Amino acid sequence: MKKIRKSEQEWKKILTPAQYVVMREKGTETPFSCAWDKFGEGVYHCAACDLPVFGSEAKYDSETGWPSYFEPYDLENIEERPDDFMGMKRTEVICARCESHLGHVFENEPTPTGKRYCMNSVALKFRPAKQKMKRDKKQQKDTEIAIFGGGCFWCLEPIFSRISGVLDVTPGYAGGKTKNPTYEDVSKGRTGHAEVVRINFDPSKVTYKELLKLFFSSHDPTTLNRQGNDVGTQYRSIILYTSRSQKEIAKNVIEEIKSAYENKIVTEIVSINEFYEAEEYHHKYFEKNPEKAYCRLVIAPKLKKVQDKHKEYFTEISENVYKK
Ligand SMILES: [Zn+2]
Repeated sequence: MKKIRKSEQEWKKILTPAQYVVMREKGTETPFSCAWDKFGEGVYHCAACDLPVFGSEAKYDSETGWPSYFEPYDLENIEERPDDFMGMKRTEVICARCESHLGHVFENEPTPTGKRYCMNSVALKFRPAKQKMKRDKKQQKDTEIAIFGGGCFWCLEPIFSRISGVLDVTPGYAGGKTKNPTYEDVSKGRTGHAEVVRINFDPSKVTYKELLKLFFSSHDPTTLNRQGNDVGTQYRSIILYTSRSQKEIAKNVIEEIKSAYENKIVTEIVSINEFYEAEEYHHKYFEKNPEKAYCRLVIAPKLKKVQDKHKEYFTEISENVYKK
């Protein structure tokens, strides 16, 4: 890409003071300061040189207070560079043409690509689709992420892995504070994290609402910090939504089903912040350890119960994730 280079004096003339601080001095704007953070169709351009850098198709509500995207408009249009500012190991995102700072990119996020491009709104200029450049046939958002915790993740993984429309299920930890927790940390109940599953699904085949129904059938949402003999905050009932609409759907589903329970539903509904994938030996635990007592006595009957109740959602296991 042909670069655009200007002196700092020239940039000062082109950019507003706020843009200059972010784009040329790598500043970070205050969260929730974005004036245009809406979700219309269109393209987000570099505010300094007008190169298209993100598209509305990849925009999602991360609830961080900064506009967030799961992929760039075109990989050629941005550059990623390591950024060790203040000892924080991050990856900076700059415009590939004028090398202005745009924001940072984070990995292991609950997005279709696992990435969150966290941008400064002043570094971007939005052009609604009808006004300019309707994006060519870049793929539609065809997958979505759901994250649920309802007791031991060894139980939830085999249930959701058998649901038609679920593409993959990953056990992990979320909802707490500790960075990069281990199973040991989490099992001591000190991290604030819950054992959860991250479900990547195709919303044209199974909806978030349907997954929620299956989730509630898979555990008891009325026992605080406990599922059966598993006791501790890591076993709490929790829904970590990845969009505002998921939050609404989750609240509505609880309203709909609450009368069916004798006790109050204590399920937490919170936005996903970080998801940490569990250690390898927790993946496919039920499939790999069928002879273990926990699998025979706890997981298998639970799976059968949900399967009998919701036959229509279940698929042959060979059709989905375990064939990999
Ligand atoms: Zn630029």
